[in-house]
Amino acid sequence: MRDWQKARVYAAERAAEALVGDENPHLTAQDARDICIRVCRDAEVSGCRVTICAEPRKGFLAEYGINEVILYPGGMRTTVLLHELAHHVEMVRGRYAFPDHSAEWALTYLRMIGRYLGDEVAAAFTQEFERRDVHFSPEVRAARVRRVAVNMANSGGKWVEVALDDPPKHVAGFLSQANRDILVVNDKVYPMRKARYIEGVS
Ligand SMILES: [Zn+2]
Repeated sequence: MRDWQKARVYAAERAAEALVGDENPHLTAQDARDICIRVCRDAEVSGCRVTICAEPRKGFLAEYGINEVILYPGGMRTTVLLHELAHHVEMVRGRYAFPDHSAEWALTYLRMIGRYLGDEVAAAFTQEFERRDVHFSPEVRAARVRRVAVNMANSGGKWVEVALDDPPKHVAGFLSQANRDILVVNDKVYPMRKARYIEGVS
């Protein structure tokens, strides 16, 4: 699914970091692993490996692969680590069908920043996310998806592919013409309020 707000997330992060400064300029490998253990425990998700890579990778401060965060030179910062761990938490929660930098991911990330770096840092990140229209409200997402679906139904389209949440699920089905609040997938019916992202419409 298209990662529509990635560039805005990156821009907001750099702006927020400029506001709050480097909260832990000497993050060590051990610190990073300790934070990772706390985050996974607090989020009640399975553990994640933290690998420190001495070789830079062009264009990357860090990255997340399955159950592994890699930190590159320049990425030894708590905010960068939390960004990647938020990907881990979302992955373990099963939101594979969502964009990498989904609203759910952004909310998880902001909450982590508040929890591990404090309210002031979280306020700066929240402000910069809002300023750049980075979505971090799953409810706002749901409302937008429903609006798109209703517009689509009004113009004759019926078939949609969506990512649902609670539980996360990728489905394709018909938007009922009689009731635009439900999605019919084979013999099952899902409330459209669970829809978070639209993949395709026809
Ligand atoms: Zn990311």
